[in-house]
Formats: sequence, structure tokens, C-alpha cells
Amino acid sequence: MQKRIAALGLGNIAGKLDAGERLTFDDGVRLFECPDLLALGWLANREREKRHDGRTYYNFNIRLEATNVCVASCLFCSFARLRPGDAGSYTMSLEQAWDKLRERAHQPLTEIHVVNGLHPDLPFDYYLEMLRGFKRIRPGIHLKCFTAVEIAFFADLYKMADEQVLRELKDAGLDSLPGGGAEIFAERVRRKICHDKCGTERYLEIHKLAHRLGMRTNVTMLYGHIETRDERVDHMLRARALQDETGGFQAFIPLAFHPDNNQMRKLPAPSATETLRVHAVSRLMLDNIPHVKAFWIATGVEVAQVALWFGVDDLDGTVQEEKIYHMAGARTPEAMTTGAIRRLIRAAGRDPVERDTLYNVVTGPEAPDEAPALVQ
Ligand code: SF4
Repeated sequence: MQKRIAALGLGNIAGKLDAGERLTFDDGVRLFECPDLLALGWLANREREKRHDGRTYYNFNIRLEATNVCVASCLFCSFARLRPGDAGSYTMSLEQAWDKLRERAHQPLTEIHVVNGLHPDLPFDYYLEMLRGFKRIRPGIHLKCFTAVEIAFFADLYKMADEQVLRELKDAGLDSLPGGGAEIFAERVRRKICHDKCGTERYLEIHKLAHRLGMRTNVTMLYGHIETRDERVDHMLRARALQDETGGFQAFIPLAFHPDNNQMRKLPAPSATETLRVHAVSRLMLDNIPHVKAFWIATGVEVAQVALWFGVDDLDGTVQEEKIYHMAGARTPEAMTTGAIRRLIRAAGRDPVERDTLYNVVTGPEAPDEAPALVQ
């Protein structure tokens, strides 16, 4: 493979990686232009194995989208409805949200992941009380809730500073932030696909604030629509720069654009090879972010398995009841058992490790794959 890497003109990049040197913007663009996907995967896999060997992480989680009412108009979104009462709109009562956790009293969940539309009429107390209620029902559960876009929206709607919003949510039980809402950081793209929500600087500032308050967060990148390769690399470097400052990102999560039922439906979805390429380049460029995650709901289960040899070391979790991608045409299951996840990781030649949100090991690779916890 070394000869192949040299013939592709990537010897310099491989040398930098061997020496632990950081890759540049130009290196990132060259990696995206590399025609040899397997060579790219080989390089990314070396970096993955340096950090994690064959370990592949997942968690036992539940996803909750408490409302899809949203005042923003992101072109790629198939989930949102503009007003309460619009066809297909819904807003859960607090009891309905809490029931999602109560119904799973028999499951050893470690995390609830909550993201919502930007609802114009709900009071701040709705969100605070939602968190308090989850902790009352299950005090040990980790609450990974509200994207930076939601935090910015709360601050504007309730006339508070971003930091005050984070502090009050933290006091009510918030443990960390998910990475959603990053889309593509480049202004050119943001203006076209998501002009009326929190911009890049504020997204990054909110993550920085969360890190300073002791919370861990993730960062995403929506790929496969109108963004260029340069804009993808720029996105990665902006995430890398913040990570240099704070060290608070746990995972980088490329998210595949899905074209069904939204205003960008004329565009094709990204191919499997493009998905593998994006994950591999992410691993190579983001030398300071520990984990690269393939969100199997979005990539498809089979591509996620292959991605475990293209830089990916994390597959998210059991998920359960995902709506955002399924309303955009995802044909993946809405949930997986922990046993199924472990078996698919093992079938890909990797070692399954159940983790909690903060990557503490819950169940190591030595445990049997027929883990007892079942979804439903
Ligand atoms: S992506 Fe989020 S902010 Fe944008 S329209 Fe959909 S729900 Fe609203």
C-alpha cells in the first residue's frame, strides 16, 4: 500500500501522519480529490487504529423529538412544520415526553438525546421541566439535549444571554449538547440552505460556552448537497480550531443529506463511496477530536459497517423512534437492539464496546453479543 500511496502523490501526507504532524487545508482538499478510495481508507484506518485499535463504540440511547413546530426554513429539512396546527405538526405534552422514558423502565438506557424544532410559543419552563422530569424518573440518565441552534433560539425568544440559557438548563439537569445544527459553516452555503437560524460564529461560541461550563458536546457536518470540497475542509478546520481551544468535542459526526420530502429534493443523496470518503477525510483532518461517528440511521447499516475500516470508531446507539431522517426518506430501521449492534460490529471484524455518553465503558468486547437488553 505504501507504493500505491506514493504513486497517488500522497507520500507527503502519509509522512506527516507518521510524524504526528497536522494536515493543512490543501492536504484536506487533496484527500478529497484522491481517486483511490481504498488508499484513503487505509490511511484513515491507521489513524483510527492508533487511537482505538479495533474498538467500536455504541450506546444504549433513546432519541426524542418533542415538537416539530419550527419557525426556521432550512431547505434540507423534512421534519419541521411552521405553525402549531399545520398538517403533520405535533408537540408533546411533558407527560407524553416523560412517558417515552417511563415506557422503557426495563431498558438499561444510559442516554436521552433530545432535539426539537424552534417552537415560537412554548415557555422556557417547558424545557426546564422536561429535563427535571427525566431526572426524577431516572436520576442516572445522561441528558444530551438541544442543539446550539436551539440554545440560540431560546436566548433570543426568552431574552436571555446564551450563557444564562445554558446555565439554567444545566441546573435543571442538562449534561451535554448534541452536535446538530452545524450543517456547513461556510457562509455561502448557510445563506442558501439555512439563512434564518443561528449562524456559524454563534454555533461555535455556544459550544465554547458549554465546554467552559464543563459540558461535553459533539459537532456535525451535513454533506452531499451544494457544498464544495473546499467548504467541507473549511468546516473541519473550524471545528478543529475550537477543539484546540477547549478540548470539549467528543465526536465529529458527518451527516448525509437525504432528499425526500424537502425543498432540495431534486438533488441526489450522496453515494456510499462519498460517504466513506467524507468519514475517512474527517478522521485524517481532525487529529484532536477523539471519535468519528457514522450515524447508521443516515448512512445505512451496511455502509456504516464498511466505514469502520474508513476511520469510523463509533456507531451512535440503539436510537429508537428517530423521526428527522425517516421523514427525509431514510429506509434504515428506527431502532436496533444492542445485540444487533454488537453483531453487526463483530461481523465487520471490529470489537463492540457499549459506552455511556462520556465514553466510559459499560460493556466491553468480551461480553456475549446476545446482550439481554431489547428495544421495544
Ligand atoms: S433543521 Fe432544525 S431549525 Fe431547520 S427547519 Fe428543520 S427543525 Fe427547524
